[in-house]
Amino acid sequence: MNYEDFFKGRLQALQDEGNYRTFADIERRAGSFPNAACHNDNAPDNVTVWCSNDYLGMGQHPDVLQAMHETLDSCGAGAGGTRNISGTNHHHVLLERELADLHGKEAALLFTSGYVSNWATLSTLAAKVPDCVVLSDALNHASMIEGIRHSRCEKHVFKHNDVADLERRLGDLDPDAPKLIAFESVYSMDGDIAPIAEICDVADAYGAMTYLDEVHAVGLYGPRGGGVAEREGLMDRLTVIEGTLGKAFGVLGGYIAASAALCDFVRSFASGFIFTTALPPAVAAGAYTSIRHLKSSDAERLAQRERVAEVRARLRRIGIPTLENESHIVPVMVGDPIKCKWISDWLMANHGIYVQPINYPTVPKGTERLRLTPSPVHSAGDIDSLVTALSEIWSQCQLARSVA
Ligand SMILES: *Cc1c(COP(=O)(O)O)cnc(C)c1O
Repeated sequence: MNYEDFFKGRLQALQDEGNYRTFADIERRAGSFPNAACHNDNAPDNVTVWCSNDYLGMGQHPDVLQAMHETLDSCGAGAGGTRNISGTNHHHVLLERELADLHGKEAALLFTSGYVSNWATLSTLAAKVPDCVVLSDALNHASMIEGIRHSRCEKHVFKHNDVADLERRLGDLDPDAPKLIAFESVYSMDGDIAPIAEICDVADAYGAMTYLDEVHAVGLYGPRGGGVAEREGLMDRLTVIEGTLGKAFGVLGGYIAASAALCDFVRSFASGFIFTTALPPAVAAGAYTSIRHLKSSDAERLAQRERVAEVRARLRRIGIPTLENESHIVPVMVGDPIKCKWISDWLMANHGIYVQPINYPTVPKGTERLRLTPSPVHSAGDIDSLVTALSEIWSQCQLARSVA
């Protein structure tokens, strides 16, 4: 086989269907988010980022940066080992305590990313609990799907956010079989929110564990940033709450919060926890500081909500079609991969507006979109520029407008 030709051929096929991914080569400027330097050809030197998951700008918060600087200087660069072999730094221990407290759980366990936390925890629980059956929401994140698949357990996919379908599937299973329901609170591409209470009711009725991915909600929802489950007073009803330190908390890492026994079980059996170098202490200290800040400060959450409402209202007024939802995510629907990429390129080249096109397989074909994440760091001027540019390109491309 000619391997090179094979690779090139498959890449050309992606190009032809408009699904080839290109990265914007940007350099974020701490202190002036959402502004970033851009190193791409055909783009201005300075751009405004409209698609960051650093939802609250915590990645440039002075307290977070100070904690990271201080810890870098005091502890050095890396952790120096896996958690088991010399890599557990006191900053990891403090962070895990903070996370357990955030979610009202006995314990928490850190991973090197949210992806790894989902993959490692779900694959371990589903594989090691004898005859465990997993019920998985149809729109679950790739990291959950891969973890479940890796466990080789029996798996049933229920219709997205459909409690009746979930209940019907649970009813078909052996009442004595161990069960685990895996789902998310805020789904990142449509921005819709799961009926957590109803899912917990059904889980209780059928004796199932619940596993909730709150990656797009931690820091953002609830009085202390504990997520949608905190906002709705449901944290104690969930077996496992999973989150990231890389999105609203602005740093890097993933975690689960659960009972002491469950966390200890995953700590003891999960390959994706055991056999990898721990997070750098400075990263742990930054995340710790970010969480502490957002536990007591509502200012960032309130400012974000304001910006989101403003962007939605302005786009609605000029008929740019957005997907309605109750979260902070504003999907502008294009519905065609080539147009979606072209509009994104045009916004970057002509207005220095950076919003990544979201195409298949991240979203279903025909629902290609620009996913906007307004945040406290976007100014009124940034919003004006965005709305003006979108209006211009919608007219130029003769894209349909929705009736206001
Ligand atoms: C981003 C994401 C993850 C992975 O988190 P990282 O910390 O970025 O690895 C997990 N679940 C969902 C729903 C996500 O969107």
